[in-house]
Amino acid sequence: MKINRTGAWFLLLFFMLFCSGCGQTQSANSQPAKEKQVQQVSTEKSESKADSKTVNKTDSHHKSTASLPKGKLKVYFFDVGQGDSILIQTPKGENVLIDGGNNDKGDDVVRYLRQLHVSQLDDVIATHPDADHIGGLDTVLENLKVKNVYAPRVVNTTRTYEDFLLAVKNSRLKIKQAKANVDLGLQGASMKFVGPVKDYHEEMNDWSAVVKLSYGEKGTFLFTGDAPIRSEEDMIATHQDLSSQVLKVGHHGSKTATSQAFLDAVKPKYAIISVAKVNSYGLPNQQATSNGTLQAKVDDQTPQQYGKINLMVTGLTGAAYQATFHYKSKDTVYQGTAGTPLPVRISRAAPGYEVRIDIKAVVKGKTYTTHTSFTPQ
Ligand SMILES: [Zn+2]
Repeated sequence: MKINRTGAWFLLLFFMLFCSGCGQTQSANSQPAKEKQVQQVSTEKSESKADSKTVNKTDSHHKSTASLPKGKLKVYFFDVGQGDSILIQTPKGENVLIDGGNNDKGDDVVRYLRQLHVSQLDDVIATHPDADHIGGLDTVLENLKVKNVYAPRVVNTTRTYEDFLLAVKNSRLKIKQAKANVDLGLQGASMKFVGPVKDYHEEMNDWSAVVKLSYGEKGTFLFTGDAPIRSEEDMIATHQDLSSQVLKVGHHGSKTATSQAFLDAVKPKYAIISVAKVNSYGLPNQQATSNGTLQAKVDDQTPQQYGKINLMVTGLTGAAYQATFHYKSKDTVYQGTAGTPLPVRISRAAPGYEVRIDIKAVVKGKTYTTHTSFTPQ
């Protein structure tokens, strides 16, 4: 799926309700937050209304809801301006909060939660220790009963981070580590971390806790924090199932996140960018990441000798590229088109010798390169 960043929409508060069995999607009429939502939807011409309808349609076609807990899964994207704050309510009444917006947004988040009659949070996830994600969490911890706090194993030196740690301590909690394969163990839906998959260095965004929410096949969401392309690549490499109907776009729509390869892995139907309408970062970036990078992979990294592989180059769909296969004995150049698989016979390849493929495309005078490899058996 291609995300149209030019038409990026500012989804400040948005409901998506999945109804088990009945295929019904509703706005939460009785909830005070509705007023704000309607306001945002009308002023921003958000597609959320249309999206909800489409989701409704797809959900009603969903046959395997029998084993799901009855009720609705609700996901709220709170208006915290430049930052993230997301509430998930499972059909069993569990509440999970992902991030709490910036320092000055803590009160807003607490107010939203109260409007939704949330008095207790089963889990709070601090995706990474940047202010626009953890800033408001101390206020949340001070005002609501919280059972568990998850955060990646990285520390920050900021006052904001210290406040967060202090609030966790005052709540008599110990931070549980957010990392790939940790399951929140919810009753009403499945929530499992798919990232971070490894330890990173000092770049906070790399550590972003990425969590997948599943409520049946169609009720799948991927929340990515500020995970950059580097982290996306690492997640893809673990071959976890990242596919999700709804993608909370990484890093507020920055070009440093959401590579074409990641979109190919997630295959979202809907994308949500949480960002201030006016922000000094120029987010979301208008330039699609897919126009800025080139990715390549082969469908078989250990093909049989004299076999055939398909080279897939993505990121500059439609652009002509040149792929140089560095075989042991010589180089061979192939021409291809990004977005279309290129079948290549590898008869010349020596078993056990890693063949590097260098890919080059020139678009509007700019040169893009990438590489991949395979090792014939
Ligand atoms: Zn952020």
